[in-house]
Amino acid sequence: MNDIFARRRQKLLAMKAFRDRQTHPDALGEACPHCGASSSRKALSAALYVCPRCGHHFPIGAYYRLSILLDPGSFRELGNRSAVFDPLQFPGYRKKLETAQRMTGLSEAVVIATGSIDGHKAVLGVLDNRFLMGSMSAEVGERVTTAIETAARQKLPLILFSASGGARMQEGILSLMQMAKTSAALARLDEKGGLYISVLTDPTTGGVTASFASLGDIILAEPGALIGFAGPRVIQQTIGQSLPEGFQRAEFQMEHGFVDAIVPRDRLRATLAQLLELHSKGGRI
Ligand SMILES: [Zn+2]
Repeated sequence: MNDIFARRRQKLLAMKAFRDRQTHPDALGEACPHCGASSSRKALSAALYVCPRCGHHFPIGAYYRLSILLDPGSFRELGNRSAVFDPLQFPGYRKKLETAQRMTGLSEAVVIATGSIDGHKAVLGVLDNRFLMGSMSAEVGERVTTAIETAARQKLPLILFSASGGARMQEGILSLMQMAKTSAALARLDEKGGLYISVLTDPTTGGVTASFASLGDIILAEPGALIGFAGPRVIQQTIGQSLPEGFQRAEFQMEHGFVDAIVPRDRLRATLAQLLELHSKGGRI
């Protein structure tokens, strides 16, 4: 019986991942924004949407990321409500939300789930920048908090993938409050001794950087990911000075101690599996 459910869940994830790959505007076989090389969709797909010529990591959808990370049949989605939440009745916001839902097949900018990586069960949250730039709404904050609290309750490791333009401006202060809410939930997880691995992907900015993305026990990043609070253009205009080469890229952040390791996409599953193994009860350390 369990096998039937596992197969159904696997099929569902595969369908959602397929849709991610069909609808992602950056991964449709267009020219690489970094080196200009054009690759066929087939070649890009085989390379997990990493440019075969220069290694540029294209953004990918949340379900597709989960499909390449998790053991087959282990995906179980949490808290996927599809209601539209427009607390401030902000002009045009409801329509934007509905359009984003229709275009992406997502109900909000984050997917949370439990699943296992090489046999190690974990709680995962993946932000998706196709949905209003992966911005943090009250619902995104609620889901991330649900993921954190599930990890604490079930004594499971937590892995969050960030890809965000920052706060959701149409929700005003309610969006900013998610920074405190997620950070407080992470502090409670930390008090219980829970492991939290944060994976920063392109781009991780604004309120997400200033809250849960930066609070990992271990912070990994994909190569070349933009990681910062305000973007480089805003900083340059504010300080009136030119910025160093590679400013705010993952490599720059690692040199300055903000990131523990840069992990290419094709090594992410193996790296996470190793970290989970090392931190599991009865691990070989
Ligand atoms: Zn390239």
